Amino acid sequence: MQLDYEKLIFEVSQPGRTGYKLPDLDVEDVAVDSLFPKELLREEELDFPEVSEVDVIRHYTNLSNKNYGLDQGIYPLGSCTMKYNPKISEDMSALDGFVNIHPYQDEEDIQGSLRLLYELGESLAEVAGMDEMTLQPAAGAHGEYTGILLIKAYHKKRGDTKRDKIIIPDAAHGTNPATAAMAGYKIVEIKSNDHGMVDVDALRAAVGDDTAGLMLTNPNTVGLSDENVALIAQIVHDAGGLVYYDGANLNAIMGKARPGDMGFDVVHYNLHKTMSTPHGGGGPGAGPVGCKKFLTEFLPVPVVSKRDDDSYFLDYDRPYSIGKVKDFYGHFAILVRAYTYILSMGHDGLKRASEVSVLNTNYLQSILKEYYKLPLDRIAKHEFVLSGLKDKLSGVNTLDIAKRILDKGFHAPTIYFPLIINEALMIEAPESESKQSLDQFANAMIEIAKEAKEDPNILKEAPHNTPVRRPDETKAAKDTIVTYIPE
Ligand SMILES: *Cc1c(COP(=O)(O)O)cnc(C)c1O
Repeated sequence: MQLDYEKLIFEVSQPGRTGYKLPDLDVEDVAVDSLFPKELLREEELDFPEVSEVDVIRHYTNLSNKNYGLDQGIYPLGSCTMKYNPKISEDMSALDGFVNIHPYQDEEDIQGSLRLLYELGESLAEVAGMDEMTLQPAAGAHGEYTGILLIKAYHKKRGDTKRDKIIIPDAAHGTNPATAAMAGYKIVEIKSNDHGMVDVDALRAAVGDDTAGLMLTNPNTVGLSDENVALIAQIVHDAGGLVYYDGANLNAIMGKARPGDMGFDVVHYNLHKTMSTPHGGGGPGAGPVGCKKFLTEFLPVPVVSKRDDDSYFLDYDRPYSIGKVKDFYGHFAILVRAYTYILSMGHDGLKRASEVSVLNTNYLQSILKEYYKLPLDRIAKHEFVLSGLKDKLSGVNTLDIAKRILDKGFHAPTIYFPLIINEALMIEAPESESKQSLDQFANAMIEIAKEAKEDPNILKEAPHNTPVRRPDETKAAKDTIVTYIPE
């Protein structure tokens, strides 16, 4: 017999069952059709499930159990920084005073919220070594686009219009070339050298009076911080270009090193990685952009500013602004979470978060490289990239490993990204994981490496105990059925 928790809520429904009770009506009962024109009224009742409170609770609890989340265990999804985010940040973003304000409200009424935006901008600028920030962009890629528009506006204002190329190393995040192309630039790719670093000689040969700028993902997508980061900035500056720092993964360096001090002109953050919102959550994010003084006149309007009397206002007076990049002021609730995170961590806490994320990642790397191929065997930053099993004879590939890890009770790492590593398995061990949790994950990965030798079919047919096994991934993405059609 099919049990209730295996059914849809519509199938659990019983005619007449309810989950609420209202007090008796003590006012005059008005017929709906006396309030609205008849043609706007529905002719048949909606087919809602009729269920009790306990039916509903069980329904949602069982649904949540089919999923795997950070509140259950480690989520080593490289490039996404799926760390545990403190509940206090959620609580703060849900405070009445934040939730119930309206974007059209007068400045005098929302001084507290403006102050929060202003102080968050100041803190983020301090952490990145920049002079001013915009909090408007809605995501990392959106921040990149905003940042590249700043660079474009700078060249345009100087009349330096032949600069039509952006240089991008091949270890950059995929959004970097997409951003540059969307902003109307041609892309010049620089290959990495054998150590996973930008090939400096190739960069020297590529720059010229047509270079608008360079975008550097640092740490890059193989988890390494470029050893020549200051030199790279220098080479591009000498050619008249500007340098953009993709700081999506700032939890590898925050409190330890600042893009501004490395010579970079523009940087974006992913608050929904580093600052208390998960990236893989599918919800809204925020990709604030910071820049050096000489670019601040181009920042999107409005910028939150402070008057001499300590009141805050929305400053639209920037004649060279690239314009708005987002309706209103960005994703405010995400900004509240980031502000809470920064205040509750403090300077030392942010620094310690970077230290522990780097330590955790290198700890896992040192264990797993005995069983899996590690193409770039160096000290990693916040993530590292394996290239399938060390022993390739079993015919087991990265997809099989990722599926099998689900059977062991974990979320899989990022797979087949970055593209420059064959059979990539990209693992990130964020700072919120304890040594015990890292050891449990490492043990599961070691078991898998052993199974591959002894019984590769277990891997090829994995996962064995998840609600869905191996869907056709293209069909699942392109042809999703999200509507329940009753019989
Ligand atoms: C995640 C990430 C991005 C893109 O961020 P989105 O918010 O997903 O647009 C850009 N660059 C790097 C290095 C990233 O890790």
